Amino acid sequence: MEKINTLIIGGGPAGLMAAVRASSLGQRVVIVEKNYSVGEKLLISGRGRCNFTNSEDDINTFIAKYGDKGKFLYSAFSRFGPRETILFFVNHGVNVIEERGKRIFPAEGGSQKILDRLLIECKKGNVKILRNTPVKALRVKNSRVDCVITEQDELRADKYIIATGGKSYPDTGSTGDGYIFAQQAGHTVTKLFPALVPVRTRETWPKLANGCNLKNVRLKVIRDGKEIDSRFGEMEFTNFGVSGPIVMDLSSHIPEWQEGSESLEFSLDLKPSLTQEILIERLNREITKSAGHKRFASLARSLVPKDLTRLILELSDIPSDKPVEYISDEEVAEFVALLKDIRMHINGLWSFKNAVVTNGGVSLKEIEPSTMKSKLCENLYFAGEVLDLNGPSGGFNLQICWSTGYAAGSVNE
Ligand SMILES: Cc1cc2nc3c(=O)[nH]c(=O)nc-3n(C[C@H](O)[C@H](O)[C@H](O)COP(=O)(O)OP(=O)(O)OC[C@H]3O[C@@H](n4cnc5c(N)ncnc54)[C@H](O)[C@@H]3O)c2cc1C
Repeated sequence: MEKINTLIIGGGPAGLMAAVRASSLGQRVVIVEKNYSVGEKLLISGRGRCNFTNSEDDINTFIAKYGDKGKFLYSAFSRFGPRETILFFVNHGVNVIEERGKRIFPAEGGSQKILDRLLIECKKGNVKILRNTPVKALRVKNSRVDCVITEQDELRADKYIIATGGKSYPDTGSTGDGYIFAQQAGHTVTKLFPALVPVRTRETWPKLANGCNLKNVRLKVIRDGKEIDSRFGEMEFTNFGVSGPIVMDLSSHIPEWQEGSESLEFSLDLKPSLTQEILIERLNREITKSAGHKRFASLARSLVPKDLTRLILELSDIPSDKPVEYISDEEVAEFVALLKDIRMHINGLWSFKNAVVTNGGVSLKEIEPSTMKSKLCENLYFAGEVLDLNGPSGGFNLQICWSTGYAAGSVNE
């Protein structure tokens, strides 16, 4: 094989963007990919539609989405941020559309279109892709990567980029190998947790409403009796707890909230736009109207989505067959309190198998933010989810890949 300038481990969005950039600068680039095909996770992103970035144009607001670690991204974003990402794909023939929450998608063709564009650019830059070639290890000598070891070969290059992704959805190829390679080069890997993932509850009753999708609800997080965060939007009950967009977004913070806390609960408000007083009034009106011909079960059914009735009847102390005219004022108040505050104890997260991204990764303290170059190993770089960075849903995670991939591909060794 000809001399390799840049060897990239992993053909996901971060590795492909690094390859496009490095080859455009005249580098001889090789991607080593363990799967038969590259970009498997990219293809399922956004349910195959690929929410590839976000059009939030205030950079500080964008960066704040990543929490405290976001400041690491300033430099990479100022070079190749969300605006440049959109321009890059538009200039390569991708029409884009903006949807709720400033989410940006290809207007047609979905994830496949994004992957095709990256592969066309790789081809133009003569990037060689070694498919079905898992990297087994890095050999490091005198603070330099000497070679990467595959089953068949030892591959040498001037520069190496680890873009192996995290541990989430391991069936797509991201099985956490990059963390081991980073450690072989002397790097620290912070504690790893699944993020953007369904949440398990101590209570088993959510299964009574398994699959029930709730819109326009508020979910609060209660830590040791105090509200610490909340989200408004969509969620659903599952066999083991809760899921859906607002749950997934909150899930990323659960490991840090659990530390040192005695109890962590969700409080679900099914009627966030109505006060307790208004709800009591409404319920009393309903009771007067239906006295003599309705039982509590049918009253409850008129207040919550159909799939939720069984669960609500289970949680309420009012017998389901009680005639409505016998429901007392106290029972009305208790039922309204339930609609405004369904409590669930957070018992943990679902596994990496169901997580959209990984929380944790290669410590940012050991990486140069403008180039993604290792501070410990001279010719080593990182890009994408393998880094200790993750964001909420809305295109923020793929943006990490585009920006860090571009930065890592920008330096010639
Ligand atoms: C279901 C789902 C939907 C998502 N939707 C969105 C979305 O709409 N918007 C968004 O912003 N983000 C989304 N994400 C997150 C986003 O897909 C990831 O953040 C992104 O794919 C990470 O890219 P990466 O290049 O760092 O790693 P990956 O995409 O994981 O790619 C890593 C590559 O490295 C290869 N590899 C790993 N180990 C080795 C090895 N030892 N040797 C050789 N190759 C190796 C893997 O096979 C893989 O091809 C979604 C994730 C999931 C799971």
